Amino acid sequence: MSDRTNVAPNDLNAFWMPFTANRQFKKNPRMFVAAKDMHYTTSDGRQVLDGTAGLWCCNAGHARPKIVEAVAAQTAELDYAPAFQMGHPKAFELANRLIDIAPDNMEHVFYTNSGSESVETALKMAIAYHRARGEGTRTRLIGRERGYHGVNFGGISVGGIVKNRMHFGTMLAGVDHLPHTHLPEQNAFTKGQPEHGANLADDLERICALHDPSTIAAVIVEPLAGSTGVLVPPKDYLQRLRAICDKHGILLIFDEVITGFGRLGAPFAAQKFDVMPDMITTAKGLTNGVIPMGAVLTTADIHDAFMDGPENLIELFHGYTYSGNPMACAAGLATLDTYREEGLLQRGAELEEYWQDAAHSMRDLPNVIDVRNLGLIAGIELAPIEGKPTARAFEAFLRAYDKGILIRTTGDIIALSPPLIISKAEIDQLFGTLSDVLRDLP
Ligand code: PMP
Repeated sequence: MSDRTNVAPNDLNAFWMPFTANRQFKKNPRMFVAAKDMHYTTSDGRQVLDGTAGLWCCNAGHARPKIVEAVAAQTAELDYAPAFQMGHPKAFELANRLIDIAPDNMEHVFYTNSGSESVETALKMAIAYHRARGEGTRTRLIGRERGYHGVNFGGISVGGIVKNRMHFGTMLAGVDHLPHTHLPEQNAFTKGQPEHGANLADDLERICALHDPSTIAAVIVEPLAGSTGVLVPPKDYLQRLRAICDKHGILLIFDEVITGFGRLGAPFAAQKFDVMPDMITTAKGLTNGVIPMGAVLTTADIHDAFMDGPENLIELFHGYTYSGNPMACAAGLATLDTYREEGLLQRGAELEEYWQDAAHSMRDLPNVIDVRNLGLIAGIELAPIEGKPTARAFEAFLRAYDKGILIRTTGDIIALSPPLIISKAEIDQLFGTLSDVLRDLP
């Protein structure tokens, strides 16, 4: 039995862990048993600095009192209410609060339980919107290479991460992809937004010419692609995408599941880049990761297209048992309070320069071939070991964990996205420890 865990090895078999090297894990388990503010406690009693806000979701840090209390109180008061044909006040209150901080053109909120569900919801809404307006030919969906939009069939179809798609059959029909924006030769080691690559958005014109724009419902992109290894949008790229969508009557969806709720120093990336999409998909930071919840934000135009017809008819045949769950809404409201009271939605901008300098101090370490950053996100790309892709970064992850920092790797890229409450001293600790790890790596 490993000294890391008090769970007997046989007990580890039943749980088939997601996106995990199960056999490796079960030989050498890593267990968290508690969390507070910036730290996790492991089952062997060590403190681990959270360099990833859980999975990009605990933006206010862990076990924040207001959120803990709100969830506990809600369980006792109203644990569940039917999501269909019934309401409860906190679902409406949270929707209003979200619209208050969202880009000005966002006016409605549809609740889901995860980022993946938000994506499916937005894709379905886009197609149904055009149909409701008499443009039923607009059914095609355009994603982007290296995009991550969750793991359901719509999301992996518009997504562009090969390993997430290749095992699962033929995908959704009628999907095309823009090229990704990773241009290492021109943009390596750029601080903030890269200079080169805005023209990659023009590929949407090629796709329009190929299929005819009257068949295209929506384009979905992450404004900053996170899970593929931190691809910061080139300057003017998103503006060009918006302009081409407008020209052809195509909806633009921003998947802000990780960029929402302050990650880039504004409530949403749309505000940071000053490009307004027609829909925003969110989750994660919406409840500080405490209770699963997602949401799709839409314009009035999209919402209102469904609101014709007799009043007693359901306008959109879509929703989930847990849409707007009272516990999740209570967590969401307390999370938004915490963000507001502590100025956390701006903190990514305040700390950006300090964070950027710390990230780029990794530049000359062995095997580092690129550093990318924006807001409180950094990607550090390592040269892969020949014939063993991902092995070097995974080894870095294991060693970092042993040294007391939690990092995340995707392929050979280390992605960092700490809670927005991180201090400068903790930024120093995170990158100081990481540089020790990288220096000694094979
Ligand atoms: N979209 C994006 C951009 C994401 O980063 C993620 C999760 N990392 C998702 C969708 C899926 O979210 P979930 O895991 O909550 O389904």
